Amino acid sequence: MSVFPNFSRRKFITACTVAAGSRLIGASLFAQDPVVDDIPKQRKSANTGKISWEVRPFPMKQVRLGQGACQQAMEADRGYLHSLPPERLLHTFRLNAGIASSAQPLGGWEAPDCELRGHYAGGHYLSAVALMYASTGDEDLKRNGDTVVAELAKCQKSLNNGGYLSAFPIDFFDRLRNRERVWAPFYTIHKIMAGHLDMYLYTGNEQALETVEKMAGWVAGYTGSFSYDHMQRILGTEYGGMGETLANLYAVTGKQYYLRVAGRFDKKWFLDPLAEHRDELKGLHVNTHIPQVIAAARLYEVTGDQRYREIAEYFWDEVVGERTYCTGGTSNHESWNTDPGKLASELSTNTTEDCCAYNMMKLTRHLFGWKPEPRYMDYYERLIFNHRLGTINPQDGTMMYYLPLASGYWKTFGKPFDSLWCCTGTGSEEYAKLSDTIYFHDEDSLYVNLYIDSSLEWPEKGLRFKQETKFPEQQSTTITVVAKSPVQLGVNLRVPYWAQGGSVKINGTVLPAFSSPSSYLRLSRIWKTGDKIELSLPMTLHIDPMPDDQSIQAMMYGPLVLAGRFDSVSKEMLYGEYQPKASDQYKVPGIVADASRPTGWVEADGQQPLNFRTEGQSQPITLVPLYQIIDHRYAVYWKVNTQKT
Ligand SMILES: [Zn+2]
Repeated sequence: MSVFPNFSRRKFITACTVAAGSRLIGASLFAQDPVVDDIPKQRKSANTGKISWEVRPFPMKQVRLGQGACQQAMEADRGYLHSLPPERLLHTFRLNAGIASSAQPLGGWEAPDCELRGHYAGGHYLSAVALMYASTGDEDLKRNGDTVVAELAKCQKSLNNGGYLSAFPIDFFDRLRNRERVWAPFYTIHKIMAGHLDMYLYTGNEQALETVEKMAGWVAGYTGSFSYDHMQRILGTEYGGMGETLANLYAVTGKQYYLRVAGRFDKKWFLDPLAEHRDELKGLHVNTHIPQVIAAARLYEVTGDQRYREIAEYFWDEVVGERTYCTGGTSNHESWNTDPGKLASELSTNTTEDCCAYNMMKLTRHLFGWKPEPRYMDYYERLIFNHRLGTINPQDGTMMYYLPLASGYWKTFGKPFDSLWCCTGTGSEEYAKLSDTIYFHDEDSLYVNLYIDSSLEWPEKGLRFKQETKFPEQQSTTITVVAKSPVQLGVNLRVPYWAQGGSVKINGTVLPAFSSPSSYLRLSRIWKTGDKIELSLPMTLHIDPMPDDQSIQAMMYGPLVLAGRFDSVSKEMLYGEYQPKASDQYKVPGIVADASRPTGWVEADGQQPLNFRTEGQSQPITLVPLYQIIDHRYAVYWKVNTQKT
């Protein structure tokens, strides 16, 4: 989340916290998105979109997580969502609408004097509740979401301002119009609109759709009053995924009008170079811009305009290929500060904002839907297991903002009621939808993208699949089939980029062939009840050096980034706004490696799975998967002195 130029987030928090301190449908809509297809009262006028996904996700309610780290993260998130009382969430909206409220205000970015107030309470919260309902069927959370929607509709009515709904006064938009200092009013409006649309899409709340349509009407009126050039200047202030949500609203309602308004949020100076395959990302605030590319992806789907696809695919290639760390994360101090491929100088306590991971995963799903290439899911897996797991505190569901990749630092988490950062918002959504990409399908095949313990219902085929695994602790997975009657189907198993060898058994018989790394292994046959697939994916150590300095290396094991684990940190340092001092950094030793065996300085400790230790170094160090570290200092990147022997 960007703040003003030369005005750091931490400083802003200090300044704005007196009290204390898309999601989209993922897929295209209706004919293209089974999630939406499931809504009972489909609108006859709905637009089916122009571009279908080649492969599609299943409705989230048909996939359930089984035991494991993903389920633990989801349950921590669920507990956190339960801890948020609707009265507190509604407080600033009510005050802004002239409705009495005596609730205790939330703090952080929801504090009554913070210019982003409402982004979480009336936006991310609703998306998260809707997604959690889809993932778990949690009726209590749905009820709380319904309450917030109903009460916000009263606020919207009371504001009586052409559909405007916000927890801050409408004159913020005068400041935006006049290019006066204001944080990011459309960013917040986008979250509120997306939250309401998600409540409609995932829980069927019709009132939420009415509210978001009224809001869109207000947005249309406001943005329609400007010249093109004036609107382009307004787009200089962060505006989230306004174009995406408006395109979705068009797809849901079939009202062409929303598509025109969506187009007003195309920022020419950012999109034109991407369309011409020029990487001019240096100097840009990262999480301002990824949502604008998601909007482009969505506009490609609903208009068929190939230029939008060019933008999305080129952007993805540049970010993932040139600006991504071993964890899959991107950004340093929220920006891209360098030319492509220059990351060695970009290690700090403020690397890889969590929102960027959330938004890149969202974008990746679109690209994979258009063209199911394994590299998209290799990247998705990298982010899930290294950046999304381990950035929610399993104890209390609090979330991180940055995942520091400078060696010797530690993770910090928000306070439950007094942080409510952008990343608390995207995190609340993320851990409510960890099941949405495990399986995709087309007419005659299933894609098993991720190895996560889970079950899948596919009623159209009369099929059920159960995937049992402790992956990544276990280097294999087992999938069993229940079929009403035998079904011809291709089952595509992803063989990850890191797989060195591997094997697959069907009903106990090893298949003679396997597949190369980063591919899908297709098992095409008639499946019947009791059929069992056993996939073995042996993990090995491998290094991931910085593209511009081969002596700065991360150590990986299969999909996992291993981190050196050092001493623990105090509770004070774990939460909130602790400012690291130079003396807080653990002095991480350099590593000596043999040129002929670059992974030779690490070996399995033989005691616990996924635990490793250094070999032949100045001091013994334990390495574990980064996602397992919560309250210890750690090192991901090492300075390695490679010696020829
Ligand atoms: Zn964020």
